[in-house]
Order: sequence, then structure tokens, then C-alpha cells
Amino acid sequence: METLQNPLILYVEDNLDNRILVRRILEAEGFQVEEASSGPEAFEKLKTITPDLILMDINLPEIDGYTLTSTLKSQLTTSIPIVALTANVMKGDREKTLQAGCDGYIQKPIDVDALPNQVRSFLSSKTQG
Ligand code: MN
Repeated sequence: METLQNPLILYVEDNLDNRILVRRILEAEGFQVEEASSGPEAFEKLKTITPDLILMDINLPEIDGYTLTSTLKSQLTTSIPIVALTANVMKGDREKTLQAGCDGYIQKPIDVDALPNQVRSFLSSKTQG
């Protein structure tokens, strides 16, 4: 299986504690992490970086993660997997993330041990085309 060296992850999340946690987990496993705390910030970041994958919080101020995902999917010229990272566990929430165009779904609270492999699995489905 083809694997990316030091994949670049953009994490869109308004909660600082979560950003610190996810950065710590992923950097320890060799990932590079860029952060955005809102939709507008994510758009700004994407003018200068092309991440291998976007981790998307759903409950965001200004623009929620569903809207942000569908907007990004319609605007990005390259196909970047977007994986929802959300505490929304109500029935139908998973379907809602997929309808918005998310390529996958990781449930909060974040499983510190599982997260790197969860992210890798979405990256490898990308490299397999
Ligand atoms: Mn949030």
C-alpha cells in the first residue's frame, strides 16, 4: 500500500483544547498539522496550503461543518478527503455528514490511541484512488 510521508492535515476546530490534543497526537505519529478555528480561517489557509486530508469539526461558529464541507467540495480543484470529527451522535448525524460530502466520520470524544490509524485509513483510501 502506498503511504504518504509526513501527510499534511488541516484540522478545522473552534475548541482550543481539541486542537492542542489532536496536534499532539498526530505530530507524535509524523503527521504535519495546520489548524483553522472557523470556516473563514479554513478558506484563508487553503489559499496557501494543500492538505492531504481535512479533519472537520461540525459544530463551528459562523459556518457549520456541514455547510463548510459542501462549499469546499464544490470549490476545491483537487480532491481532498474531508473527515467529520464530531460529538453529534444522534441518529442521522452520520448520514448528514455523508450527505454534506464528508468522506468519513470520526466520533468524539477522540480516541487517542485510535486516531492516527483512523486518519491513515482515510489517507490510504485516497492514494488507492
Ligand atoms: Mn466545535
